[in-house]
Amino acid sequence: MHNENILISGAGIAGPALAHWLRRYGFRPTIVERAPALREGGQAVDFRGTAHLTVLRRMGILDEVRRRQTERTKMVAIDAAGRPRATLPAEFAGGEVEILRGDLAALLHDLTRDDTEYVFGDWITSLTETADGVRVTFDKAPPRTFDLVVGADGLHSGVRALAFGPEERFRRFLGYYIAGFGVPERLQTPGEVRMYSEPGRMISPGLAVFASAELNYDRHDTAQQKKLVADACHGMGWRAPEILEAMWAAPDFYFDPIAQIHIDRFTTGRVALLGDAGYGATLGGLGAGQALVTAYVLAGELAAAGGDHRAAFARYEHQIKDYARGCQKISGNAGPFMAPATPAKIRQRNLMYRLLSLPAMAKPMNKITTKAANAIRLADYSRFLR
Ligand SMILES: Cc1cc2nc3c(=O)[nH]c(=O)nc-3n(C[C@H](O)[C@H](O)[C@H](O)COP(=O)(O)OP(=O)(O)OC[C@H]3O[C@@H](n4cnc5c(N)ncnc54)[C@H](O)[C@@H]3O)c2cc1C
Repeated sequence: MHNENILISGAGIAGPALAHWLRRYGFRPTIVERAPALREGGQAVDFRGTAHLTVLRRMGILDEVRRRQTERTKMVAIDAAGRPRATLPAEFAGGEVEILRGDLAALLHDLTRDDTEYVFGDWITSLTETADGVRVTFDKAPPRTFDLVVGADGLHSGVRALAFGPEERFRRFLGYYIAGFGVPERLQTPGEVRMYSEPGRMISPGLAVFASAELNYDRHDTAQQKKLVADACHGMGWRAPEILEAMWAAPDFYFDPIAQIHIDRFTTGRVALLGDAGYGATLGGLGAGQALVTAYVLAGELAAAGGDHRAAFARYEHQIKDYARGCQKISGNAGPFMAPATPAKIRQRNLMYRLLSLPAMAKPMNKITTKAANAIRLADYSRFLR
């Protein structure tokens, strides 16, 4: 087997899923994660369709995901008095099985921690490709040489910036920002996400979305980001003040532009991109399921090629390109849907929710999403398992 030593940047969803498969095929993955510990935040993520469920089953975690699943949530648009104006049924947002992103991240970490080297609180500062490897320098650890490097480090991928070019070249900003954070139970309604919208902004227990021009901020300064959210949602009605207070206290906080990554190729030389780093689709783009499916394909192709990265990377690109684009297409832009720009547009959105609750409308719409999630033929790589 060639190229056994593989460095993965990012311990989100895609990175640990890739490490799991690489170990099972006899590779030796190392994961470097910028955060000092596993980032367990995030809203619920859902899985739907055969491809997602097959990969979960082949990973041996479908039952555990089911055991930890959340009650699938319906989305309820409310008015300032908290009265429901329209409801989007649970199947729509919740897929076939729904789990908190943090629970999924923890599950994948548990699955891999015993046989994968994890390095937290560090990141790659340079990549230099040689004939038989990649010389990697880190912010803290001494330099090391790996056979291959995979960027599974999300929307703001450091590997992508080093190997492909600056983020601005590949990021399509869609005019909105999203923040996610934990809130106490007293603010939650079991089985429901209550969304309160005012023109260009939306707040919900644990989630805020607002329209904005591109903002200049420090991605590692959480207090600054919380202030951006607090300012954007300042003066909103309903329970916004309580929710914002909870946001300030929340230890888990996630803030990002609603944006997609568009890049022509996902590999260059000995470096590959995986998950959001390569083809991030943003909210509604089935990001977690896509991360698991594409990790399965990348590891499987490396195993099938006996570690020959040229052959494996070409097959990986070929297999996932249309799939990744399809997920980006259906995600569209969730911003205007969650935080419509005018009162009239809020009313239109609520009307759309009501229409989508009708089985005659919900079924075909659901079919479109599931079709995108399923638009890949998964090869069987089980003969390469060790
Ligand atoms: C804390 C958190 C909360 C999220 N919440 C939501 C949500 O509520 N809704 C939603 O739709 N999506 C959310 N996402 C994004 C979602 O997880 C992804 O769209 C999807 O699961 C694909 O996963 P990924 O592994 O490609 O990327 P991510 O899950 O984003 O994982 C990327 C990982 O790489 C790490 N990283 C970043 N830069 C570097 C670097 N330079 N070096 C090393 N490591 C680095 C990050 O800390 C992170 O752990 C969240 C992501 C995170 C990290």
